Amino acid sequence: MDDRCCMLDVVLNPGRDKSLRRRHPWVLSGAIREVRGAEQAAGAWARVISAEGETLGWGHFSPASGIRVRILSFGKDEVGDDFVGERVVQAVARRAASPMLGETDAVRLVNAEGDGLPGLVVDRYADVLVVSISSAGMELRREVVARALREATGASCGFERSDPRSARREGFGARQGALWGEPPSAPVAIRERARHFRVDLVNGQKTGFYLDQRDARDLVARIATGRRVLDVFSYTGGFAVSAARAQAASVTLVESSAAALELARAHLVLNDASCETRFEQADAFRFLRVDAGEYDLIILDPPPFARHRSAVSRATRAYKDLLLHGIRRAAPGGYVLAFACSHHVGPELFRKVAFGAALDAGRPTRVLCRLSAPADHPVSIDHPEGEYLTGLLLQIE
Ligand code: SAH
Repeated sequence: MDDRCCMLDVVLNPGRDKSLRRRHPWVLSGAIREVRGAEQAAGAWARVISAEGETLGWGHFSPASGIRVRILSFGKDEVGDDFVGERVVQAVARRAASPMLGETDAVRLVNAEGDGLPGLVVDRYADVLVVSISSAGMELRREVVARALREATGASCGFERSDPRSARREGFGARQGALWGEPPSAPVAIRERARHFRVDLVNGQKTGFYLDQRDARDLVARIATGRRVLDVFSYTGGFAVSAARAQAASVTLVESSAAALELARAHLVLNDASCETRFEQADAFRFLRVDAGEYDLIILDPPPFARHRSAVSRATRAYKDLLLHGIRRAAPGGYVLAFACSHHVGPELFRKVAFGAALDAGRPTRVLCRLSAPADHPVSIDHPEGEYLTGLLLQIE
């Protein structure tokens, strides 16, 4: 593709250059006075210019989205598709050099804005990469991205799986299939420390596995020994496996999806779980109300309750409900490890929700540590929206 043929000039309204000067990578539609260019094609390179005519940065144009331009490079120097390829190679190299990931062959290689590549997420599962595209700009450059990934990693297959919701918002058709190589016909085997999992790239949630909970799985492994563990919203049992391998006394999994619970069962066998295990296909809210069990470690890892700002108050009520009933199930001295995975519910709000729940439960509660996504999910300091996972480890008296 010749980059230059579809270059656009995006001129901002007077006074709307502030966020760009602070290196925030999104140009919202309301900030734009005018778009100049013969063809205003989805994904085209856009030069963003202040009302006074100063070039502020270069990004990808999304005509159908409220985020009209996603900036890849700030400043006056023009960039093209090679720049995208170079960024991909750099992101892969950073993971290879990272001292923080530990023993695993399952790693997030590209984390969108956190790696200067808005609209692109790439997860490595052993020899297969899952490529998830969520912007018109990256959709147009999928071949460039594929070539760079293939060369930088040597992976035998790149499997594309774009999020249908983002694709709709950006006005392109969601794809699923091989970018290169032969897509695996069965779930892919991965290893994380001494834990073994099978990842269903086609039907699994997100790109198949919750790589963002790796640090929390390590934490669970340190706490679980000899303890009765309740893994609520277990999905395929990431936390349950971690607890079982650490010789928990028992592990109870609660999950609404039968398919996820099935894979969790297989994972516990695969990891030689010798403790007592119980699988509950149930609604977590209901389970926590009716279950009479007492546990020493309760993990609450629900799906995002607040995808939009407007859903925050409903979401906080749901988090509080979970925390309240979770805290009630905790044995004296027991732990509650709770998460929220929405940018709109940040660490401070989540701490307040936990405070309210502990107060209502009438149980003195300490915060032992706070968690977020691990080092292969970097967040650009200019882009707070990239921060979505927040967790608290509580100890209940
Ligand atoms: N803890 C998991 C990830 C959890 S994702 C891990 O580390 O791998 C959230 C999970 O909650 C999903 O598997 C989803 O199927 C399940 N879920 C959503 N709503 C639920 C509900 N009301 N009750 C029980 N499970 C639910």
